[in-house]
Amino acid sequence: MILLNGKKLRDLTAKSLKDEVSQAIAETAVSAPQLVILQVGDLAESNAYITQKKLFGEKIGAKVTHKKFEDKISQDDIIKEIAILNEDKKVHGIILQLPIPQYLDKQKIIDTIHPSKDVDGLTATNVKLLWANDSRAIVPATVLGVISLLKHYEIPIAGKKATVIGRSTLVGKPLAMALMNENATVTVCHRNTVDLIAATREADIVISAAGSAHLVTKAHLRKGQTVVDVGINLVNSTVKVDLTYNALKPENEIPKKQMVGDVDFENVNDIVTAISPVPGGVGPMTVASLFQNLIKSWKSSI
Ligand code: ADP
Repeated sequence: MILLNGKKLRDLTAKSLKDEVSQAIAETAVSAPQLVILQVGDLAESNAYITQKKLFGEKIGAKVTHKKFEDKISQDDIIKEIAILNEDKKVHGIILQLPIPQYLDKQKIIDTIHPSKDVDGLTATNVKLLWANDSRAIVPATVLGVISLLKHYEIPIAGKKATVIGRSTLVGKPLAMALMNENATVTVCHRNTVDLIAATREADIVISAAGSAHLVTKAHLRKGQTVVDVGINLVNSTVKVDLTYNALKPENEIPKKQMVGDVDFENVNDIVTAISPVPGGVGPMTVASLFQNLIKSWKSSI
């Protein structure tokens, strides 16, 4: 079984991006690439993702500016901020950290980001370029991460059957499009799919982006397949503790959150040909791919 190791590929990507950045700066004396992250509110999950992005940026020599707004900021004020960043030649990428509070119109705000700085690939312009299989498209980081993992491990995509579970705007749909652009024959499944098992068993590549723990089991898979798990689910688990140190917990266990994917990794890894783990698969690649997008935008601005 081949482990599609996202951590390893993330680190390799960091190294090559770092070289690319320092070489371009040495040759052209341009300013360092800069990513601006706009956050509304203070979600713990978002804070953790932003920290990952800052760390990665630091590693490759990119500047990451974090602008945090209170969750009462008006839509107009965010749009004004984006307009200033669009004009700023020292800013090469602008992302709106999602989710944002409900009172804001997410797509309306995102569409005010200049497409060349839209390094999350979520503006209408970039979505359309992806549809058109235009090389100028900035592809959403998760999608790019999945494709990069498959390519790095030399999993053939062209001519293969790929089944995507999930049809979200952020992941499922653009992923299906990107796989089609790579010449796969794509099936997209979702909550209303009647026979998920049939759809996954017939595929050469199964990609799950449903956000549902234990959704993909041994019954869904067969020998010879590649499985990519995009799911991130926090489930309750328990850890046993020594009673002598935890006298207040008579049940001898304390609750703990554990991150799992959509795929029952332990039960399927002996039958599939290749599989990405959670954590350590697509997650780390998402950060690396975001910065690949940033460097692409930065280089085309030089
Ligand atoms: P994300 O943004 O991570 O893709 P969403 O929650 O927006 O996640 O979307 C989840 C997708 O997964 C939806 O398209 C939904 O139809 C699909 N999905 C969820 N549960 C199942 C299931 N049990 N079987 C098939 N598809 C599912």
